Amino acid sequence: MLLDSQPRIRLMGGETPLEPAERLSRMLGIPLCFKRDDLMSLGMGGNKVRSLEFWLGEALSRGCDTILVGGLPQSNLCRLTAAACAKAGLSCIIVHNAAQPAHGSVPQGNALLNRLMGVQTLYCGPVDEHRRMGFIRQQAASLCSLGKKPYIIGDPVTGALGYVAAALELCAQAGRLTLQVPLRHIFISASAGPTETGLLFGLCLTGGVTVHLVSVEYDEATFWSIADEIFAGLEQRLGIRPPLRPREIARFYGQYLGNGYGVPTPGALDAVRTLARAEGIFVETVYNAKVLHGLLDQAHQGALPPDEGVCFYHTGGTPALFGQAAQFMEEI
Ligand SMILES: *Cc1c(COP(=O)(O)O)cnc(C)c1O
Repeated sequence: MLLDSQPRIRLMGGETPLEPAERLSRMLGIPLCFKRDDLMSLGMGGNKVRSLEFWLGEALSRGCDTILVGGLPQSNLCRLTAAACAKAGLSCIIVHNAAQPAHGSVPQGNALLNRLMGVQTLYCGPVDEHRRMGFIRQQAASLCSLGKKPYIIGDPVTGALGYVAAALELCAQAGRLTLQVPLRHIFISASAGPTETGLLFGLCLTGGVTVHLVSVEYDEATFWSIADEIFAGLEQRLGIRPPLRPREIARFYGQYLGNGYGVPTPGALDAVRTLARAEGIFVETVYNAKVLHGLLDQAHQGALPPDEGVCFYHTGGTPALFGQAAQFMEEI
């Protein structure tokens, strides 16, 4: 198989559900289903688990014993790296690019879960990602001098392998799903790249599906410069060139981003409530609520044909919602 040559550890019990969203389908007049990567047994789940199967696989294949990961205090990546390390019996060090929280402040969401896992957490101050990586590299160097073997999480090509696998899983499930119509559209967030580029790669191999990329971070040109590089890295790593190119199967939406990464929009907050009330399913506001806003808006505009199956790819991150309560305070 395509991915058999790649070092991997198993962190998922099996497939995540692909399930019809019946009430929302009726409300929108399109056949809609959800891919539920928020439902995994490990660490409250989320897309990073799929990438961690390959990141930690690579770490173990290199004989590493200490995993370093960086992110903001509500990072899903940090929480799931800590959980995967707990399961794999590896040491984990989290680096947050934020100020150390005030003594006695109450952690919420992912920060609480990290605390419960007892993982070592360092704060390098409110710097950008580039500086955070510099700090992480320094930590890795000092671990080396103590005889440890550190591994830094984040190689985007390795992480994308998890979503090449997810694309194949989803296509196999779509063939079994009783949507009445074939699956033709997938909505997913466009952000740092590994998740959506891995998915695009897998779907460029299979064809037949349009990927609707809803930006939660970058403009289109910036996004594609990142995604093209990851895509080329996957071609090299896997030794295969998909017959389709990612732009041929993708549509990019910049109009649901609002004022930038992590800044909620009224449409996203509405989408959280709409989904909760229609289906009893929750999304956070950094990623999935903006994607859902895009899907709802495109459906309302009549841009999605009523005879073509649509999938909302839920990438998880739901624990972050508990750190976002203040965003809903005006009208909850
Ligand atoms: C990290 C994350 C994403 C984006 O994944 P990338 O591979 O970084 O683009 C989407 N959704 C959730 C919930 C995430 O935590």
